Amino acid sequence: MSLKNFMASEKGTVSSLVALLMLVLIGALALVTDAGLLYINQGKMLNAIDSAVLAGVRELPGNSEQALETAAHYGIINGVAAEEASYQLDNGQRSITGHAERQVELFFARALGITSKNVSVSAQARIAPVSSTGGVVPFGVLEDDFIFGEEIVLKEGAGDQDYWGWFGALRLGGSGAHVYRDNIKYGYSEEVSIGDIIEIEAGNMSGPTKVGVEHRIDQCDHIPRCNIDSYREGCSRILILPIINIESINESGHPFSVRVKGFGAFLVEEYIGNGTENQVRGSFVRYVIPGGSDSEAADFGLYGVQLIE
Ligand SMILES: [Zn+2]
Repeated sequence: MSLKNFMASEKGTVSSLVALLMLVLIGALALVTDAGLLYINQGKMLNAIDSAVLAGVRELPGNSEQALETAAHYGIINGVAAEEASYQLDNGQRSITGHAERQVELFFARALGITSKNVSVSAQARIAPVSSTGGVVPFGVLEDDFIFGEEIVLKEGAGDQDYWGWFGALRLGGSGAHVYRDNIKYGYSEEVSIGDIIEIEAGNMSGPTKVGVEHRIDQCDHIPRCNIDSYREGCSRILILPIINIESINESGHPFSVRVKGFGAFLVEEYIGNGTENQVRGSFVRYVIPGGSDSEAADFGLYGVQLIE
């Protein structure tokens, strides 16, 4: 082979090698770019569907239509179009499932004859009775006395209590009027769980009850002021209360400790009177918090939310 011919054939080999490399590179680029596109779409859609079902489930149980509307709304504001998504209620209106599908247009894969690919995501969120929570207010409500959804007197200064000398006050994190009052004002800082045994706090405690409850009522600056028909999430008027049974009675026949059966949300509307005349009025309402939940736990209208899929 002459030198000239040799050079020419080398050139040919090099240029076809370059061409081949280019093709591989473009192919790789196509894969990476298109895969990235699918990946980004899937991530965004999943985030949107997660927020949609988490927002919607907070309306359950009860407001099924509102739950589906809220989910659809959150899906849209998080970037999933209405026609891409569908939502449904399951588990006896205790959970909501969202599903979204999108045709993603591809760029480089077109060279291989693939113009688009279907991306789909789904998520499910559930509510269940709260089994463990912080922020508990130290008024124990006997399971037998629990009434949901109508105005009741939570704590009465004089008589009418089932157990003489005990007015429903509980010792959370220590005894004494200051601890009791601060637990009303701010909620007890530690977690309380179903099955926990709590000592009772004897006596009327009307002074600290008044200070604590009035603080909770006054802290609501929502307009209109929160009431049992309309209340805002996170409002200070919503008291997380343990629903209890008597656990032990002392020698004189007075309750000594209680056992936590579950939790309720009490919307406190007013504090009236003083001393033996004092009353705390309000109503147990349906409410959702981020606390630990358990679908087997007793249901007193306070729920925790979790993503289960
Ligand atoms: Zn409020």
